[in-house]
Amino acid sequence: MPRRNEYDLICIGSGPAGQRAAIQAAKLGKKAAVVEKQQCIGGVCIQTGTIPSKTFREAVRRLYTQPHLDDDTDTDVYAPRIRPTMPQLISHVGRVIQREMHIISDALGRNDVELVHGLASFVEPHTVRVETVHGHRLLTADHILLAVGTRPSKPQSVEPDGQTVGCRTFYPVSANSSAVLVSGC
Ligand SMILES: Cc1cc2nc3c(=O)[nH]c(=O)nc-3n(C[C@H](O)[C@H](O)[C@H](O)COP(=O)(O)OP(=O)(O)OC[C@H]3O[C@@H](n4cnc5c(N)ncnc54)[C@H](O)[C@@H]3O)c2cc1C
Repeated sequence: MPRRNEYDLICIGSGPAGQRAAIQAAKLGKKAAVVEKQQCIGGVCIQTGTIPSKTFREAVRRLYTQPHLDDDTDTDVYAPRIRPTMPQLISHVGRVIQREMHIISDALGRNDVELVHGLASFVEPHTVRVETVHGHRLLTADHILLAVGTRPSKPQSVEPDGQTVGCRTFYPVSANSSAVLVSGC
């Protein structure tokens, strides 16, 4: 029977929800695509949330508890601990983010999940319009998963002003900071 729509499943959003759903569908023999509006893939998990925050924490912990981990020096020889600078930490986080993005993009590719970069919106229940840098594309699917994530809420009493920032702008801003106060966990 000819296929009614181009895909069995389109996932809007390449965060953990969208990418895993698309890969699982592909493993079950379905034709799946992921649409992502950002140039980077992986959603909050890779860009500003889970991976950056834990990489940051682990990088500091590792440098302080095992300062020789990255070199070949004899660990019995005393060496003063070198305090990492914020740009070094940020650059380490950046390398981990790049590696994680490659892992996701490989996983999508290996499972024949098409990754479409662009902003998705509905035209009708089974048709999504994707605004890409090369114009727009219309994609059709039997099922469309909204995996668009969330937006952080802003406390009424706190105004972001460049010094006080939300979690999504923390990493770029923190490169020039020597100390930070974190509110909320
Ligand atoms: C600081 C921080 C630390 C965290 N730490 C942890 C942790 O340690 N462990 C843990 O389990 N979770 C953690 N989380 C939570 C975790 O990051 C989220 O639960 C997870 O990313 C949600 O995944 P998602 O796929 O639902 O959405 P998201 O990761 O938000 O992805 C949604 C994607 O959809 C895209 N999108 C939105 N609208 C459109 C559109 N119209 N067209 C195309 N694309 C669109 C967005 O660009 C985004 O890439 C943390 C979050 C934060 C902020």
